[in-house]
Amino acid sequence: MDFILASQSKTRCCILRNAALPFCNISPNIDELNIMKSLVSEGTPHRDIPNVLAEFKAKKISSKNIDSWVLGCDQILSLDGEVFSKPDSKAQLSANISQMAGKTHQLITANVIYKGAKPMWRHTAVSNLTMHPMSPLEVQNFVTKFWLEAQNSSAGYCFEKTPHLFSKVKGNWFDIMGISISQILNFLHQNNYANIATTPKIVAVLGSPISHSRSPIMHRYWLQKNNICGDYIAIDTPEKNFSNTVNVLAEVGVSGFNVTLPHKEAALNLSHSKTKRALEIGAANTLIVDSSGNILADNTDGYGFISNLEANGGSWLPNAGPALVIGAGGAARAILVSLLAAGTPQIYLTNRTKSRAQNLSVELSDKIEVIDWDEKEEWLSRISTLVNTTSLGMTGKPALTISLKTLNKKALVTDLVYTPVKTPLLTQAEKLGFNTVSGVGMLLYQGVPGFHQWFGLPPKVDLELVKLVSG
Ligand code: NAP
Repeated sequence: MDFILASQSKTRCCILRNAALPFCNISPNIDELNIMKSLVSEGTPHRDIPNVLAEFKAKKISSKNIDSWVLGCDQILSLDGEVFSKPDSKAQLSANISQMAGKTHQLITANVIYKGAKPMWRHTAVSNLTMHPMSPLEVQNFVTKFWLEAQNSSAGYCFEKTPHLFSKVKGNWFDIMGISISQILNFLHQNNYANIATTPKIVAVLGSPISHSRSPIMHRYWLQKNNICGDYIAIDTPEKNFSNTVNVLAEVGVSGFNVTLPHKEAALNLSHSKTKRALEIGAANTLIVDSSGNILADNTDGYGFISNLEANGGSWLPNAGPALVIGAGGAARAILVSLLAAGTPQIYLTNRTKSRAQNLSVELSDKIEVIDWDEKEEWLSRISTLVNTTSLGMTGKPALTISLKTLNKKALVTDLVYTPVKTPLLTQAEKLGFNTVSGVGMLLYQGVPGFHQWFGLPPKVDLELVKLVSG
């Protein structure tokens, strides 16, 4: 017995796939727009319109696939007594968004399951979304940026890319995406089709820019490897939209977030509670949303850094001797805090802008001694750990200028930069025979605690994942 989705919608297919549900999809080829127009002209209550359309789709496919479960879905947007359809021009999208701005509209999502050409189950979900007021310029900017995606959305906006457009949302992520997946899974479970009765979870990484992030590759790998229903998405989030985005997504049931530049401090500030290590570092990279919508802020960068050295640094021990940390930017804070917590007896810290290093030393510990940028080589003979936390050595940036000839022979050299995986610093260290560890492992290990909290299983960092993320 098969399960068929009577739709070509990429979003619905993707959600069913992420729910680990065996299915195929067939397009019902019905004239949705005309059917909708005639339903509207007949005065059909808005709530019934997506139901009728979902039923049309499911019935058509079911009549040719008598033994299969067939799911039909439809969604409409209702505002001011009008039903909005997919915009067919930029002018139409602009008019739709201008009309929605500053008001609350309803997204009505209908799900109907047929078998043997007969309806077996139906579920309708109504979500209320309040959009911020928008100036004509903001509407125009939105249309320019999102026109391509908007054409495929019944709402004319793409909620998964633009949650910040809303001031308040009463609804659930999946209903808004156009498919009530939990209820569908429950129905199929009760009817012995699927043995999954859990709601898939959604986690997002927020940052700006975000397209370079390797985190979706990593978390999707773990989801698949562990047969967990869910998805991990990236949302480009400019600074001004950050807290709005987190709050709206938490309201619709998103389970958590990774946070990258430039939001790490804002993430700590908006949380309801904070882990000790996040407080010590003064920034958060992981947010966990509980069932009441409360947000816990954690910082796993230091954990990732130490775990990477423990896993890949051979006999490296944090307390074997002093460390030299190069760079005093955002990432350096986590490195300093975690080295001290792991027992490193003393840290020499150097930065191009000396005052930033001095501030960190005053703020964090008197075990951190600030040294001059031009004199860093003089300290190499007495350290056990050398860490580059600057962005020097990254693809497109100059290399870090340092000669390791006088470095203590037992020292470990590591670089936070992971693009390229082998930086000029690591290449030089390797040539001189030093123990080296690349920054890719830190990226992977920092993801472990978040994944565990959101999805309930501690994931493994294996070679396949290292290759996938390094590629
Ligand atoms: P950040 O806050 O912007 O700090 C940049 C650091 O690099 C500062 O210390 C800055 O010195 C220094 N720097 C930049 N250009 C320089 C130059 N031309 N000469 C000398 N110093 C220079 O960035 P961040 O968040 O700390 O990130 C730093 C690097 O770590 C990035 O490459 C990032 O991708 C990487 N990172 C990796 C991981 C991982 O999981 N492996 C995690 C976090 C970060 P000034 O203070 O003088 O400007």
